[in-house]
Amino acid sequence: MSKAASIPSITLNNGVEMPQLGFGVFQVPDAEATAAVESALAAGYRSIDTAAVYENETGTGKALTGSGIARDELFVTTKLWNSASQAWTRDAVLREFDASLERLGLDYVDLYLIHWPRAVRDDYLSIYRAFEGIAESGRARAIGVSNFQPAHLERLLAETSVVPAVNQIELHPFLAQSELRALHARHGITTEAWAPLGQGKELLSAPVIAGIADKHGRTPAQVVLRWHLQLGHVAIPKSVTPSRIRENFDVFGFALDDEDMTAIAALDTGTRLGPDPDEFDVN
Ligand code: NAD
Repeated sequence: MSKAASIPSITLNNGVEMPQLGFGVFQVPDAEATAAVESALAAGYRSIDTAAVYENETGTGKALTGSGIARDELFVTTKLWNSASQAWTRDAVLREFDASLERLGLDYVDLYLIHWPRAVRDDYLSIYRAFEGIAESGRARAIGVSNFQPAHLERLLAETSVVPAVNQIELHPFLAQSELRALHARHGITTEAWAPLGQGKELLSAPVIAGIADKHGRTPAQVVLRWHLQLGHVAIPKSVTPSRIRENFDVFGFALDDEDMTAIAALDTGTRLGPDPDEFDVN
């Protein structure tokens, strides 16, 4: 079995298969993105998460198109930077989407996400309707949202016709997002975790995580990634260090037991590393 074939996948609500473990490239400069994504593909990752605002779609795309891996074995996500810089008419959304495809060097993406709800602008419904057109055209195999809170999702579900395939949210043991995960489960929305490793900060040195890592002869990062996988999340850890890229992929040969899962669940303090999605609205 090839490495890639060993990645479990999640069937999204429109039937598209998404690898449960992917590779994120937030804060990777464009010039370094090609090497980082090449390392990830060599380690066995087939799902890559970028965004227009990361300004590394070009470097990411180079690694993807130069990899020799068949396009249908790759799963590529990018996101619309729905900033305050312009009015998000349907044409403006389509232009941004085309620009992302052009930078990536691809003629479709697997998943296209609205990056933040920015509810203060009150335009995510109309942006999402433009996304529905993109999905209809086949140029995004699935569409979804990111950083949507329950109220934003409820409104989207009530007023648009395609249930988002994914909500990509900040999610790690310090911020377990029970309310959103339950809402997603009720509506068939896949939960995707950003900052799955808590951005490599206090979480990875927490004594509970270290103890479980010792018990299994694994690293703290591997324990946290197992927690995500066993809860059914999609996780997209980021690293530019080849040994860590491989370490983060080597999480299919062990399992946490109920006691481990309960101990990790007790770490949830609701602590965010990133902005509050109810307030975030910057250019
Ligand atoms: P992460 O939790 O993946 O942490 C990454 C950091 O953890 C690395 O920079 C490194 O310092 C450390 N690290 C990685 N592997 C390690 C290991 N094995 N051992 C020790 N330390 C390790 O955080 P992230 O990059 O913020 O999130 C992952 C991805 O999620 C991003 O790259 C991006 O694709 C996506 N993301 C999306 C949003 C959004 O608004 N939708 C926001 C942030 C990130």
